[in-house]
Amino acid sequence: MTPLKEEALPAVTDTSHGAPYPDGDLLLLEDLLTDEEIERYHAARAFLQREVRPIATDYWNRAEFPFELLPRLAAQNLSGLNTSSHLLSGLIQMEFARADTSISTFFGVHHELVATAILDLGSDEQRRNLLPDLLALKKIGAFALTEPEHGSDISRSIGTTAERVGDEWVLNGAKRWIGNGTIADYVLVWAKDVSDNEIKGFLVEKDREGFRTQAIENKTAVRIVQNADIVLKDVRIPFTNWLPGTTSFRDTNVLLRNSRVWVSWQAVGQQFAAFDVAREYALKRHQFGKPIASFQIIQSQLSKMMANATMSLSLMIQMARLQDSGKLTMDQAALAKASCTDRMRESVALGRAMLGGNGISTDFEIAKIFADAEAIYSYEGSYEINSLLVGRAVTGISAFI
Ligand SMILES: Cc1cc2nc3c(=O)[nH]c(=O)nc-3n(C[C@H](O)[C@H](O)[C@H](O)COP(=O)(O)OP(=O)(O)OC[C@H]3O[C@@H](n4cnc5c(N)ncnc54)[C@H](O)[C@@H]3O)c2cc1C
Repeated sequence: MTPLKEEALPAVTDTSHGAPYPDGDLLLLEDLLTDEEIERYHAARAFLQREVRPIATDYWNRAEFPFELLPRLAAQNLSGLNTSSHLLSGLIQMEFARADTSISTFFGVHHELVATAILDLGSDEQRRNLLPDLLALKKIGAFALTEPEHGSDISRSIGTTAERVGDEWVLNGAKRWIGNGTIADYVLVWAKDVSDNEIKGFLVEKDREGFRTQAIENKTAVRIVQNADIVLKDVRIPFTNWLPGTTSFRDTNVLLRNSRVWVSWQAVGQQFAAFDVAREYALKRHQFGKPIASFQIIQSQLSKMMANATMSLSLMIQMARLQDSGKLTMDQAALAKASCTDRMRESVALGRAMLGGNGISTDFEIAKIFADAEAIYSYEGSYEINSLLVGRAVTGISAFI
């Protein structure tokens, strides 16, 4: 019988073990923040470690969503919309994924993609009517771009259409992988306007006739996220459900550029999550009469994980500066996404292996972290596609065509 986590490892009260950097903050992050930001960062981290991390594995195992968490989550003001500092909001996003990637993904899709789209690209009426409930997490948003037949090439080959008929739009098509899709009140559907062949964003309420969602089951990553297949068959919505700031894919790309940075922060959080679990385990687990943390190979592996995390973090600090100065481009966001997820994949594998057999059971968290990393690697532009964007940026040649 597999021993319970508590029985397998002796209880340790002092988790620092006298180490000067038990949480891996070798970059002295707080030096980059104001006193008020430090307070917010600590409060967010404490909340996420206290309220999100302990419940995540159980929900992950059951592939269920913790609705009861939403009021407490909303009260924390963790959204990037609530801070003018890109570094602080990035660090909070990092801590979110450090606690749990699924719940971080739910929150990111809802806030960074849907609420931000309405704030930046919506009409005054949409902002007034929809944002209060969305920001309070009383209503949930989903972002529907990917389709069953088109993922990486969606901007060229999108199949979903929107046709204006009088005071309405009529939407037809299918979407796949849509995070929050089965639980969302509003789904931001991207479709090609047949009158000018441009891709635009349309808000579809969940109870519209002809709008159908089906949960994607049997996932091996981010199992708390309720991903959906969606079918739109002659779905009629008012003309005013179109986000007027979306006139072509260029507008979608602005959102994707920023969310690509958010996902890169997630990849850093995943690395710290793996480090946290692996370090603690290595200190507690004894083999050959000593903690495995005393073996040189294990220390070298922890050092590698730390190097990956701090290099990724350094890059993200510069991304936040570029966002602050308004200079961030898609090429830079792609560099961040590709490199942080590449390092993440190496680190979660090192962490998983460090737990030996126990690394295969979600009871010890690392198996969840290991599996979730694969979703981050593939969504928000796969590793390969983001690498190709960087390749194009430095050669002037597009390998896409
Ligand atoms: C857990 C999860 C959550 C998601 N949430 C959402 C969401 O909320 N909303 C949404 O719209 N989408 C969402 N997605 C979809 C995600 O963005 C896509 O999966 C991603 O863009 C890749 O598309 P695809 O799966 O169709 O793969 P494909 O585009 O079919 O790619 C398959 C493989 O081919 C590679 N490839 C493709 N083209 C090239 C090329 N030119 N050169 C080299 N390699 C290439 C890719 O890198 C990949 O390895 C989610 C996906 C997952 C797994």
